[in-house]
Amino acid sequence: MYSKYIGRDWSEKLPPVCPKCEYNLTGISSEQCPECGKTIYWLDVQSNARNVYHALNQTEDYNDLVDVGPYVGAAGTFFVLVFWIARWADGLGRVIGVVLAMLTIASGMQILRSKRVPAWARDVVEVEPKYIKAVINISFGLALIAIAIFLPSL
Ligand SMILES: [Zn+2]
Repeated sequence: MYSKYIGRDWSEKLPPVCPKCEYNLTGISSEQCPECGKTIYWLDVQSNARNVYHALNQTEDYNDLVDVGPYVGAAGTFFVLVFWIARWADGLGRVIGVVLAMLTIASGMQILRSKRVPAWARDVVEVEPKYIKAVINISFGLALIAIAIFLPSL
């Protein structure tokens, strides 16, 4: 009885889908999937929707980090180059540059932790991990470290 109750009063942010065939079960309160005939355990359907929604939220957080990465890298480049050009505390500028470069790399690496989101959920919430931008951040950070290390002393 309890499972039927959840089926009728669905309040999750993603639609209920059949665990087997991913058929959208919105508005259905039966114990069987009308598409594939599988027995529906509504508590499983609910926890699945919550897990996927949680994964989507995490991906959005990782995407935000990816967007911040280039600014951190730019700040690191600024420290390395300005201290170098000014011929003042050159070593300190490089150290700050390397630290910021590592944060830039980390901002891109986080995206690798994002879980794969099933197709049915991607259709509802358009969240894609920003893989390309993440790779750019990682490359940026590595290049900055190389510059900080190999820039000749004036
Ligand atoms: Zn089904």
